[in-house]
Formats: sequence, C-alpha cells, structure tokens
Amino acid sequence: MKAVYLEKPRKIKIKEIEKPKPEPEEIMVRVKSVGICGSDVHYYETGRIGQFVVKKPLILGHECSGKVVELGREVNNLKVGDRVALEPGIPCRICNYCKRGRYNLCPNVRFMATPPIDGAFVEYVAHPADFSFKIPENISYDEATLFEPLAVGLYAVERAGIKPEYRVLILGAGPVGLATLQSALCTKGADTTVVDLYEFRLTKAKELGAKKVINAKDVDILKQLSPEFDVVFETAGSVATTQQTVKLAKRGGKVILVGLPAQEEISFNIHQIISKELDILGVFRYANMYPRAVRLAQRGSLNLKSFITQRFSFEDTEKALKFVRDNKDSCVKAVIKIC
Ligand SMILES: [Zn+2]
Ligand SMILES: [Zn+2]
Repeated sequence: MKAVYLEKPRKIKIKEIEKPKPEPEEIMVRVKSVGICGSDVHYYETGRIGQFVVKKPLILGHECSGKVVELGREVNNLKVGDRVALEPGIPCRICNYCKRGRYNLCPNVRFMATPPIDGAFVEYVAHPADFSFKIPENISYDEATLFEPLAVGLYAVERAGIKPEYRVLILGAGPVGLATLQSALCTKGADTTVVDLYEFRLTKAKELGAKKVINAKDVDILKQLSPEFDVVFETAGSVATTQQTVKLAKRGGKVILVGLPAQEEISFNIHQIISKELDILGVFRYANMYPRAVRLAQRGSLNLKSFITQRFSFEDTEKALKFVRDNKDSCVKAVIKIC
C-alpha cells in the first residue's frame, strides 16, 4: 500500500509499504479522508513540536475517517462496511490517569503522527475498535475528520464549565478556535466574541454564529474590549494573545489555554490573576469527546461543512501542506481524499 512519509523537514515522499495486520481487538480501516492539522504543517516545516522530534521518516495525519474492511477476532462493536472516525490517541489503559478517565494525560499514549508513531496519510490502518466511532449517516467522510479538532473544542468547553448566560471570548479563529466556538454555541448557546487577524476566518466565525467578531489587525483589543468575559479561550498560541487572556477575563472568570505558543515561558500580569481570582486551566488534547461529537453531528447541531475550505488528492499531500502553511486568509481546513 502507499504511504506519504515526511522524510525530513520540507521533504515528502510517497513510498510503498506493507499493509498492517489487525490485532484481535483492532479493525482494519480503508482510509478515506484525512484532515490537515496545524501540527502536521509544523512537523513538515520544522521536524519538531516541543519535545517531539522527527528522527526517522514519519507518516503524518491524525484527523482520519474510513471504512471498516476487516475485523480482529475479538471485535464485536463494529462490522465490515461500517464508516468510522478514528480517535488518534491510544492510551495505555492501565495507568492512574487512564483509570481516572483522564487518558489524554497518559504518559504512554500512542498518538498518530506524533513521533515516533505513524499517522494516517496511508491507504490502510489497523486501529483499536474501541477508539473507532461509527459516523452518523448524515455526515460525510470529509466532515467526520473534523471530529478530531472538534473534540479539542468540546473538551475546552467542558473544562470551562460554560453556562448559557456566560459571555465568552475566543482568541484565534483557526480550526481549533472555530471548533471551540461551535462547541460553546451548540452545547451551551453562550454569547461569544471571536478575535483573529484574518478576515476570512472571522467571516467563518460569524457564519457559525459568533455574536461579535473583531479583527485585531485594526484595533488594540485591550482598548476595544472591556474585561467582562466569564471565560477567555486562547487558541491562537501567540505570546500576545496568551498574555491578553488575564486582562480580558472578568473578576472570578476563567482562562482556558488551548493554543501552544512556540516559547515555553511567558509572563502574565500576576496582580490581575490574584485580584480577579482567575482560574487558569490548560487543555491538552481531549478525553471521551468523540461520542459527544458523534451525537451532536447526528443531531444536526454542528456545521462541519463550512470548516472544509479545500480538498486535495493523496498524491498532492505535500502541495496541501504548503497550501495550509501559506494561505491562512483563505483556508480553515484542508482535507486529503485518500480514496
Ligand atoms: Zn489535529
Ligand atoms: Zn495510561
């Protein structure tokens, strides 16, 4: 079968490799669609994210949907022909974090397309059946790839404990920012303001139901907005927006840090954090959110179509990675059609 490898930064090669074999508790999936994530682009550009370094050729892609073509002998929750979305992080299942349900914190998690674990830009993958979720009939393979970024948004919203009367601010309107917006709106119907630098993304935010959008290129948002937000989500991963969070949250409010800034240490206004008694929470991936994404999609509560702005063929994966890198003003989510 064919697989798209990142050989080294900025070098992609399509190789012929052996098809995997499903373990007893796994299914074999013919991969149909894979979304391109910011992390894929980052690995392509630099070969690393934080402590994760690409040391040998790696298959990228972790936002994945496909068709079940074979079952391991112990699988009984799915059947051949089922359409599935794959949750890409497989935890150890036995550590304390796994047992407490916070399996996103499992130190032994195997997450697709995070070195050294291969991802989904490939024709077939073998995947644990209990991390494979049936796609509702009204949802396409392309749309189902969005369950992954949506899981991040749903989990961020869960961490924030949003209530319908809350005023919510989302800094960043990339895929995760928009997923957070959609999650906030469809689970709690909160009043949301979204800030970004790209007009195209703000238009999308408006389309998805943001009450107010602001282009930070034109205005100083600290002057434009008063500190009256119950929850501030940071999804852009920039130093400036990360610092702005504590200034824009209201007294007793919450700051939810989702975006990963390039630098490890950032200074905050500590007086504001203390005097406003802010809760600052980190978000690392997600746990137990795929069933929620599936249910919301089935119910028709999600607008997944408007996230998908481009489609590329399997052969054009490298072109797609470059496109996503260079076109933030016309791209939210690009999807690779594997077959
Ligand atoms: Zn992703
Ligand atoms: Zn574990």
